[in-house]
Amino acid sequence: DLSHGEILYIEDLVVSFDGFKAIKGLTLDILSGELRCIIGPNGAGKTTMMDVITGKTGPRNAQVSGRVFLGQTIDLLKLKEPQIAQIGIGRKFQKPTVFENLKVWENLELARKSNKSWRVALTAKVNQDAIEDMEKTLLQIGLEKEAYIPAGELSHGQKQRLEIGMLLMQKPELLLLDEPAAGMTDEETMQLADLLNQLRGTCSIVVVEHDMEFVSALSGETGIVTVLAEGAVLAQGTMEHVKNDPAVIESYLGR
Ligand code: ADP
Repeated sequence: DLSHGEILYIEDLVVSFDGFKAIKGLTLDILSGELRCIIGPNGAGKTTMMDVITGKTGPRNAQVSGRVFLGQTIDLLKLKEPQIAQIGIGRKFQKPTVFENLKVWENLELARKSNKSWRVALTAKVNQDAIEDMEKTLLQIGLEKEAYIPAGELSHGQKQRLEIGMLLMQKPELLLLDEPAAGMTDEETMQLADLLNQLRGTCSIVVVEHDMEFVSALSGETGIVTVLAEGAVLAQGTMEHVKNDPAVIESYLGR
């Protein structure tokens, strides 16, 4: 029974690799427009969960049971990785991957052109739309002054923001970010938090992260933080709630 407003719905997900259970009955839902942080110790199953959502791991290469839906109708367990990219799930891995020899704006343009969804590619075909998209994205990611600089000359934090901009050019419904603040200075981390906070409401975002200050900046006083441990949800609630949860403290300190 899927209630309205959910962009991602995971129910009783179990994922095993040759009998080893990496996910042991995970139930999770993300609301449309939500910015959800997911934390948890190493081995909790965070990467496996992201891999299942994006089709990298599925019934073809693991033992999978349960349900994983995008919106109310799209059964992600029935789709392959390229199909999932086409329906608007964008993923960013920890390290930045930009085209270093291309200018910042060229990176964004390439991302728009190589859009995996023909719907978006066609909509943005009108030049005016493309220009407006580019301007908006450059402003959002705070790289309007760097537009003509080769991406290879950007700082680490700027590269990470550029890659998020490249994903935004693809008009995703759901963005999955894997430890985007790793390796960033405090200032870069806060700039990234500002960017993601601005995106709240325009697309749904799931951030897997270790940096607690960053998670606090993203979740504020009311945002929901999900704590995974041993392949299931250990605790969920505001940052204030989860950080005082004895089971959470135990799972972090007990390692
Ligand atoms: P996290 O991202 O939270 O650190 P992972 O999802 O990477 O956790 O891993 C969860 C568990 O599943 C770990 O014990 C890991 O060793 C195991 N695991 C992940 N992928 C595979 C795989 N392809 N084959 C076997 N075991 C795996």
